[in-house]
Amino acid sequence: MTNETWGQVREELIKRVGRHNYATWIEPLKLSQLKNGVARFEVPTTFFGDWVQRNYGDHIRTQLSSAGEPVDRLEFAVGSAAPVAALPQTAKSAARPVRARVSEEELPGAPLDARFTFDTFVVGKPNELAHAAARRVAEGGPVTFNPLFLYGGVGLGKTHLMHAIAHDLQARRPELRVLYLSAEQFMYRFVQALRDRQVMDFKELFRSVDVLMVDDVQFIAGKDSTQEEFFHTFNALVDANKQIVISADRAPGEIKDLEDRIKSRLQCGLVVDLHPTDYELRLGILQQKVEFYRSQYRGLVLADGVLEFLAHRITTNVRVLEGALTRLFAFASLVGREITLDLAQDCLADILRSSDRKLTIEEIQRKVAEHYNIRLSDMIGPKRLRTIARPRQVAMYLAKQLTPRSLPEIGRRFGGRDHTTIMHGVRKIEELMLTDSQLADDLQLLRRLLQG
Ligand code: ADP
Ligand code: MG
Repeated sequence: MTNETWGQVREELIKRVGRHNYATWIEPLKLSQLKNGVARFEVPTTFFGDWVQRNYGDHIRTQLSSAGEPVDRLEFAVGSAAPVAALPQTAKSAARPVRARVSEEELPGAPLDARFTFDTFVVGKPNELAHAAARRVAEGGPVTFNPLFLYGGVGLGKTHLMHAIAHDLQARRPELRVLYLSAEQFMYRFVQALRDRQVMDFKELFRSVDVLMVDDVQFIAGKDSTQEEFFHTFNALVDANKQIVISADRAPGEIKDLEDRIKSRLQCGLVVDLHPTDYELRLGILQQKVEFYRSQYRGLVLADGVLEFLAHRITTNVRVLEGALTRLFAFASLVGREITLDLAQDCLADILRSSDRKLTIEEIQRKVAEHYNIRLSDMIGPKRLRTIARPRQVAMYLAKQLTPRSLPEIGRRFGGRDHTTIMHGVRKIEELMLTDSQLADDLQLLRRLLQG
């Protein structure tokens, strides 16, 4: 990776995230290292790194990847020259997990996160089935269902469970060749093989594994030759009775632009979803994480009721919950204060506010209609004019993103439209926002208005 490439990537990022965000969050990043699919940046503070990871991580990875640098993980280190170098060592180490590589050197898998094990996975009602299925696969016994297909919203623990399976298998059956990678990496490896005329090697390699795990498979939808290759790899492994584990953000049948034969193959095994977290699970996760933080920040006092408060108020996803805890501990240790409810409320005001507001679909429709200067009735009406249909899709997208409503529920509020229409709308906006910076800005503004 040359600085020139990072320069180009930054140009692209300006378009994606808008000038203001770019100047605040991307400009200060210093790329210090890029290897083994990990891009490492220097940042002024731990909080800064967390923020960038959470809000711009996907953009950065996508752009690096399209610039020919497939990256599956970003790491942020507090730069030594940065003004907050006085930040306690503990804050640094708490913020980013340790990483380990799978022992099989010749397998081109993604690095495993050492903290994503079964031990650290908290089981509750919403994820107990997924957990049990993952455990079963991790035993490495005879294949009983193939593939194991895990799906669910962002931050609910899919990647964690897959890494846990890999860790367990490595320990229990070191002779097995276990390969874990994201669907995106699968694609880049395949494209690389095509370019270097090494498709045979590629095929051989992927067919030689005992357990194949592909994360975020929705990524290959619409990418025809990659889908095709994935399908063949998949079939070859199933025929050879090798275990496959797949994850996606939605059920096989709901992944648009995925070939029907692949969908039906994916449905052949065990399909399990991770449900949104409930209060007990969130509290359990917080209690578990807090043990880790206690050991990192010795001497910090955590007042009663703070964890319950967080579990109650932050309902979005586990990643946000963890981010809140990280920030809380880092902040308390910086200012040297006890972690009380008051402190939590101050320090997490933004997160609490955005989880707090119970946005309705109607509110979203109203704001979007206002923004684009169209009538509210046209939001739910049948007009197909671009000037109306596009804002309508924007509202569908925001409804999906910002409310817990299902596609059919959203459909009903958009004049009784079918859930596939909503899905199409959401997808359309997801696609467009990657190339249309005006739209990306609009979305950002609307999101702020609605959540602020
Ligand atoms: P996904 O892949 O579904 O988007 P991840 O597996 O990356 O989600 O999980 C996001 C974060 O939340 C990770 O840090 C993970 O360790 C944590 N997490 C999610 N579910 C649990 C759980 N049940 N117990 C402990 N940590 C969890
Ligand atoms: Mg994941």
